[in-house]
Order: sequence, then C-alpha cells, then structure tokens
Amino acid sequence: MQFKTIIEPFRIKAVEPIRHTTRAEREIALQEAGYNLFLLRAEDVLIDLLTDSGTGAMSSGQWAGMMLGDESYAGAKSFYKFETAVRHITGFKHVIPTHQGRAAERILFGSALKPGDIVPNNTHFDTTRANTEFRGAIALDIPIPEGRDPQIILPFKGNIDLGKLEQTLRENPGNVPLAMITVTNNSGGGQPVSMANIRAASEICHRYGVPFFLDACRFAENAYFIKLREEGYADKTPLEIAQEMFSYADGATMSAKKDGMANIGGFLALNDDALAQECKNMLILTEGFPTYGGLAGYDLEAIAVGLEEVLHEDYLEYRLRSVAYLGDILTKAGVPIMQPPGGHAIYIDAKAMLPHIPQSEYPAWALSLALYLEGGIRSVEIGSVMFGQQPDGREIPAAMELVRLAFPRRVYTQSHVDYLAEVILHVNSMKEQIRGVRITASPPVLRHFSARLAPTHGGLFAT
Ligand SMILES: *Cc1c(COP(=O)(O)O)cnc(C)c1O
Repeated sequence: MQFKTIIEPFRIKAVEPIRHTTRAEREIALQEAGYNLFLLRAEDVLIDLLTDSGTGAMSSGQWAGMMLGDESYAGAKSFYKFETAVRHITGFKHVIPTHQGRAAERILFGSALKPGDIVPNNTHFDTTRANTEFRGAIALDIPIPEGRDPQIILPFKGNIDLGKLEQTLRENPGNVPLAMITVTNNSGGGQPVSMANIRAASEICHRYGVPFFLDACRFAENAYFIKLREEGYADKTPLEIAQEMFSYADGATMSAKKDGMANIGGFLALNDDALAQECKNMLILTEGFPTYGGLAGYDLEAIAVGLEEVLHEDYLEYRLRSVAYLGDILTKAGVPIMQPPGGHAIYIDAKAMLPHIPQSEYPAWALSLALYLEGGIRSVEIGSVMFGQQPDGREIPAAMELVRLAFPRRVYTQSHVDYLAEVILHVNSMKEQIRGVRITASPPVLRHFSARLAPTHGGLFAT
C-alpha cells in the first residue's frame, strides 16, 4: 500500500512555545513597530515566515555533534569534519569556512573582480549583487524570460538564458572574471535550475575560459527538483545529483543558514590554487584563520551534520511538499501566487490580488500587515518598499509586488500550514477593504529594514 499523506519525517524532542496574541494586542504592536514587520518583537509573532535563513530547527544529531566541537584555534578536528562533508558533496579542492554566505561572496569578489567587470547570473541575490557592485563591477541578471512572469508554469523556471550568457562572454572578452548560477533562484521565486542548463552554462563558460561558480545556498532543494522533474534523474539519489551539479562548476559560495541546516555559517569552495590562496589571505584579515573562518568549532560540526541530513530524500520530499501544499490550497481558492511554488517559499502576487491599491501605496506591504493583524503571521514584502527607492532618491515602482512566506526548515507542521492557509483565505475574503500605506520616515538605503509607515486612510481596513 502506497499511502498518500506526506508526514513530517521527524518527531519533536524539544519544543519552543509560540504565543497567541489578540487582534487588539497586534494592533498596538503594529503601531509601536511603525507598521514595519521587521521592527516587531519576535515573541509577538505566532508563525514567523520572515525568512528561511538560519531559522531552521537542528536535529538531535546536530546538537550531539555540537558537543564534539573542537575549539582549537588552528587545525581543529571539527574543521576537518566540515571540510570532508563539503568535499564529499562538492568535490572542490579548497574549502574555506565563512561566518555566512555574504562573507564568502565578499572574499571571492574581493580577489576575483575589478571595477568595470561584468558578472552574469540567472538572478543575483541581493547580497551577491551588493558585493559585486561594491567592487565596482556590474551584476548582470539573465534569467530565461519566462522566469520573470509570475503566472507561467515551467519545470525549471530558474534557468539562466544560455544565449545571453554566450553573447555576454563573446562581447566582453577579458571583462567577465566569472559567471554564476544561483540554485535555486531565490530572488526569482525559489525556482529550480535544470542539470542540462547547469551543464550547458558550464560548457559555454569554459569555452570562453571563464570560471563558472554556483551560488549553492539551496543546492539540495534544487537537486530534488531535478530528481522529480528532469529526465534521467528519477533513480539517482539527491547526493548523486548534487555531486553532478557541482562537478560542472569551478567553485561555489554557500550560506549554511539555508541548506546547511545550521543557524549560522557558510563557505567558499573552489579548485583554483592561486585564487584560493588569495581568498585565504583575505579570510585571515577579516573572518579568521582558515580552519575556522569566523565560526565556532561547534558551528562547523552542526554544518557537517546538516549537509548530510539535508540530502535525505524523506526530508526533501516533506520540504517541497509543505510549500506546494500551501500553494495548492491558495491556487484552488483563487489567491494569485507566483507559479509554480518554489522550494522554500510561497509568493503572493499582491498586485493581482489588490488591484485597487496603487503601487505608490505599497499593496504588498499592506497585505503583509493585514496577515499579521488578522492572524499573527509575519511575512516579508518584496516590492516597492524594498526596491522602489533609487540611489539618486527617486522612487520607481518595483516590477512585482510580492509577499513572501518563507518556510523555516523542520520548524512548522501541517497544522501550522493549515492555520496559515485559513488566515490567508480570510484576508483574501476581505481584500477589497484593505487600504494602502505611506512611508513616514525612511533611512537613505535599505529602507525596508527600518522605515516607519502609516495607513493612508486612517486604518489598514476600510470601515
Ligand atoms: C541567503 C543567500 C545569500 C547570502 O547568505 P547569508 O548567509 O544571508 O549571508 C546568498 N545567495 C543566496 C541565493 C541566498 O539565498
């Protein structure tokens, strides 16, 4: 008998209470936070889907591993365990630990990029873009055109545009020090990249003598999508698929806060001896000695175990199915979401859901506030509050107005997701009453983290 219910492939040994608040309490909490969910106290949130970064639950194996942490400054046993785990999956010669993903980016780009260089990527994650631009280089996003349309359903909507990649390399000889593919494409909705696309991109890069890197934060989710959707991979294990993905690359940057299943950590891994040496010199300057790189020995242990657990098929099935489960309920009820559901999050298309709120009144931000006020859910706006502010002070509306509900790893169960769906459907049933917001105080950069806002018409809902 093949049972259909996908259960959480774990039982719960330690619990962390979450706290119900009343709608009146949430109303006050919102006012005190300046209508900015980043400024709430986490204890006032019932279900926290702000991010899947570093918010996962560690396993008993990881906690046990932490007790074995070797805190020696140099040559710690924990480092070699970590190095072995990374090498087993990626096959890269040099493994450089960092405190999180952006540190790996800064160190790699600090050595590899110079002003005026171009770095193509399916879609740069915001820290990847910021670190590229910080070096004076150009972060070029070239996803396949379908990747920019929320409604098109494709198995590998995260793919890079191979024609544009080749054109970029052909037209800019000597100015592309490396090319990257982000798996899964986080900023493009967590959409996977196919093995065929990775292989072809690698082949093009190498034909032009350009190193090819993976931004590997969600490599395990991507590997499982390949297993489910790409011909020839159904009988391979996620580990074998991941190994093949990395075999086409010359290196990778990684945030262990994602598919490292840890609360902190990351790495840079690569084959080039000279570049690795330069990166290690830089690491010593800003992160730490190359056998700990800004992490405690116990963090290295947690990541080593996490990298093994993240490739378990029952975990990956549960992970992808939890996201798709919410996506299916919302789609059936007519709530517009980015299709198809990606690996780590559901994105509600607020522009389609709230056409009565102009982009100048931030519909996705307003929707995220409504979800909190009605049900205690914290999400994140990915729209014009986040992206509308230009460096010269002008305001240009973002291409999309999305509310992202990111799933922490192994934290919530199906009943949490059922509750979540109920709240979203409730808010959807009163969507005509939701009103926009305006910004009342804003910092000069990255305003979404600390701006203060207010409802444009007195309250969040029309009365
Ligand atoms: C999170 C993330 C990063 C940066 O990692 P941090 O650990 O947050 O510094 C880089 N790329 C992608 C695709 C990510 O999701």
